[in-house]
Amino acid sequence: MSAKKKTSLVWNYFEEVSETAAKCLVCSRIVKRPKGNTSNLTAHVHRDHDKESSELQQKESRRRLETQFNEEVSESVARRLYILK
Ligand SMILES: [Zn+2]
Repeated sequence: MSAKKKTSLVWNYFEEVSETAAKCLVCSRIVKRPKGNTSNLTAHVHRDHDKESSELQQKESRRRLETQFNEEVSESVARRLYILK
């Protein structure tokens, strides 16, 4: 699995302009992202855009729940397969 893959939900609100900057789709401001991480982008959404901020939070918690669920399911499937062998 590649760690560089853009899986962060914050990309719903940004467009990549370069390796170190992204453009906010809400206010068109350019936000720097040193080291290519998304923490500045997330911070911008939470600081400047109330609606998008709560939307993002909801999406993130929903995704966390789904990930957790999938992990539990695959673990129980794996356990069952192991027992059946
Ligand atoms: Zn913005």
